[in-house]
Amino acid sequence: MPKLTIAIDGPAGSGKSSVARLVAQLLGYLYLDSGAMYRALALKALQESIAIEDQEQLVKLAKNTHIELQSPTAEQERSGAKNRVFLDGWEVTQAIRTAEVAQAASRLATVGPVREVLVAEQQRAGAGGGVVMEGRDIGTVVFPKAELKIFLEAAPQVRAERRWKEHQEKGDKIALAEVVIEVQERDLRDRERKVSPLVRAGDAVLVDNTAMDIEETARLVVMLARERDRELAKTLSEARGDA
Ligand code: C5P
Repeated sequence: MPKLTIAIDGPAGSGKSSVARLVAQLLGYLYLDSGAMYRALALKALQESIAIEDQEQLVKLAKNTHIELQSPTAEQERSGAKNRVFLDGWEVTQAIRTAEVAQAASRLATVGPVREVLVAEQQRAGAGGGVVMEGRDIGTVVFPKAELKIFLEAAPQVRAERRWKEHQEKGDKIALAEVVIEVQERDLRDRERKVSPLVRAGDAVLVDNTAMDIEETARLVVMLARERDRELAKTLSEARGDA
């Protein structure tokens, strides 16, 4: 039985990264965080003082940038990292996790031709299946034929509190009110942009995890994956005419 492609989309703070990583671990799949790619590219644009309005330069930048995702070290994992990110060979795992980079990433993500470059890389990275990829447009654009699509949601206040806690754990002194605004702004931009907006794919399962923790959410997704696996095996065996 070929391994599934699992697409997990949802707004900031819905728990996508933690859930996707745990699901991948439980199933022995590859975990890919597409948001880390937008963040890494945004960091490079900030470092090189390229204006987000300068679309031509941004596309050039995207084409000339190498982003690599790896599993975190045990120590990085203990401090909350879900993956290791390299930008042109330099580790930027922590550097991309600031509110400034998050905002720049969501602005850069409105540029269609930049998305095309990153989407092509994401499709290449997940081409073999057996992958859990999370982002905003995975089930709608990157892998529209994914065998399992999940749309994760949670109440806005809960999502902002989760993000704030992450900042606290890293020692970032940022007020909760500031994080609420940052998450709201990013959500609005992600949901309302013209290209590949954050929207639930028609065939995605909506999971509201406002009152669920990461482990409960991940176990639910794994259950859905096993169910999907059985359905696919049944369809395959019917098509073959097995008894
Ligand atoms: O998921 P994360 O918060 O790391 O993503 C950062 C930003 O990258 C998002 O706010 C969104 O604008 C953008 N993004 C996107 N499409 C994806 C993943 C992330 O537009 N598939």
